[in-house]
Amino acid sequence: MTWLVQPSLVNEPFSDPGLFIDFRFGRRALLFDLGDLTPLSPRQLLRVTHAFVSHTHMDHFAGFDRLLQVCLHRTAPLHLIGPAGFGDRVEHKLKAYTLNLLDAESVDFVIVAAEFSGGSVDRVCEFRAREAFRRREMAAIRLSSGVLLDEEEFRVVGIVLDHGIPCLAFAFEEKLRVNVWSEGLRRLGLPVGPWLREAKRAVRQGAPDNSEICIRDGLAISLGDLKQYALRTARGQKIAYVVDLAYDEQNVEKVVALARDADQLFIEAPFLDVDANIAAGRWHLTARQSGNIAKRARVSRLIPFHFSARYRNRADELAREAEEAFRMAEPPPD
Ligand SMILES: [Zn+2]
Repeated sequence: MTWLVQPSLVNEPFSDPGLFIDFRFGRRALLFDLGDLTPLSPRQLLRVTHAFVSHTHMDHFAGFDRLLQVCLHRTAPLHLIGPAGFGDRVEHKLKAYTLNLLDAESVDFVIVAAEFSGGSVDRVCEFRAREAFRRREMAAIRLSSGVLLDEEEFRVVGIVLDHGIPCLAFAFEEKLRVNVWSEGLRRLGLPVGPWLREAKRAVRQGAPDNSEICIRDGLAISLGDLKQYALRTARGQKIAYVVDLAYDEQNVEKVVALARDADQLFIEAPFLDVDANIAAGRWHLTARQSGNIAKRARVSRLIPFHFSARYRNRADELAREAEEAFRMAEPPPD
């Protein structure tokens, strides 16, 4: 099965946290967090349609500047989603620049900043290049509770965690993976073409098997036949991203629900468990705690990162501690 997206950490684990989610097809990407983005090329950054910011501590937001600089002359809008008060943060960033060269003739690059405080996306504002990025309040987007972005092939959901301040965690959920089996298509004597996109959409929407899929004028096939001979479906991929949280029952319950059965869980592991008191004082996890959470969420793969600089030469210890907790602890009964 071909995957819809490929996630990769922006930096090595001691540097700023961030996840780049690249789409296999179509020039598109998502970002979770905007720390140091220098490893990403302008081409990669230009593909970013949505950036989800957990909170605005510097290591999670300082990369906004580079993203803005690269995208300033593009026509497609940039959507940013962050915690309560995020619109103000974006506005302050934009106000820091002298923008006298932007006018009514400029490419009208639009930044949309949305705030999420746990229920639904509840406050949205917009900044347009042609208005020198003056803030405009917009109507809030109506989505189901906990949903930050809902598209045909995937959704992004979020939760609010306690990091001393509100901090968001995210999960990318592909809805249903539908792949074309080219050998099956050949046996049916059907050509590849844009009609396959419609067929996939019909499968995703649960259309009945007797639905007619139009291939071209005068040529159609039932969805049932197509599914039987040329389409393969599977559960979609799920990727969770969790950083900057205290290890308390409420946070843990929320993360376990968010990351439940994820294919990949990217989770912070800043401290060794011997330094659990330091971790607690800074509202962070230890590597063992990260592993426990991954175990409870029954994820397939754990990727610990966001390591504290105090362990600069001991990355393997942090990774091993997280992995051991993940592998060893028994899952609790449901
Ligand atoms: Zn952080």
